[in-house]
Amino acid sequence: MIQDIAPWKLDNAFSDAVPSSADLVLDINCDGLLCTASSLSLPTVGEWHEHFPLSLASLIYAFRLFKEAPTKHGDCTTASCTHAEHATLHSQTDIPRLEEIRFFLVVRPREEAEGMTPDGMRRTTPSALRGAGGPLPFVAVTALHLFRWYASHRFCGRCGSALRPSPKERALVCTSCSEIFYPVIAPCVIVAVTDKDRLLLTRYARSNAVRLVLVAGFVEIGETAEQAAEREVMEETGLRIRNLRYAGSQPWGLSGTLAIGFFAELDGPDTIHLDTGELAEACWVNRTDIPPCPDDSSLTMSMIERFARGVE
Ligand SMILES: [Zn+2]
Repeated sequence: MIQDIAPWKLDNAFSDAVPSSADLVLDINCDGLLCTASSLSLPTVGEWHEHFPLSLASLIYAFRLFKEAPTKHGDCTTASCTHAEHATLHSQTDIPRLEEIRFFLVVRPREEAEGMTPDGMRRTTPSALRGAGGPLPFVAVTALHLFRWYASHRFCGRCGSALRPSPKERALVCTSCSEIFYPVIAPCVIVAVTDKDRLLLTRYARSNAVRLVLVAGFVEIGETAEQAAEREVMEETGLRIRNLRYAGSQPWGLSGTLAIGFFAELDGPDTIHLDTGELAEACWVNRTDIPPCPDDSSLTMSMIERFARGVE
């Protein structure tokens, strides 16, 4: 799935770190994420600052990637190291060396970001990066989630005054009434309804939906994820389910959600009563007839693929 970026790990603990020239910039506007044109990579703060000299104050620490990499004596990159103090260790065994990449998000009013693509760079939509491989797709969609939150929380919903970033946590604080606004994450459920060797597949009613997917919907205030799963299946297909089993979860920055997946068994008649406002199609598909998934970046596709392979 898109968040499976081993050996890298994403650390999104809050920090008020200030950018250095080697850190990477997440610069998003309506045309997409700013990338270097020659290769699909992000500009460094130094490269970005050459084009936006007055905008350093708009950079906010987003998160970091880190991984442990084996280090050999000859690979030591510590500038002050003479190798003398490391020689004993290096000669005995490799010791892990921490590699990290820090990312800073550009937070500026939307109207100031229109059309800002420097020469030698290009913009790519985060969703177009889903098949790019490596950690970049997950970095991009997570950055998009953060960017949309900052961009849509410029003023206090209580008194209308300007918001400013909190110095101690990932939050925005009203400069007048001190109301605190935390990042918005919408929980949703994804349900794979099974009936022996059959899986319930659906297709959204929106005009551009082509993929067969699973029943999905947002968790409402006051209900558990399991209750949401039962309600969504009933609302969209008229089917009852039982024996819910947790299938995993996934942060999905493209829609600002945290998806919570369940496998569930059909409970009762298998006749589908379609909610045509939500779905264009819902059908039972035998395990051997499930079409190949275009990619396994989403929890939905991962669950379908697990059922098709007989893992579930
Ligand atoms: Zn306020």
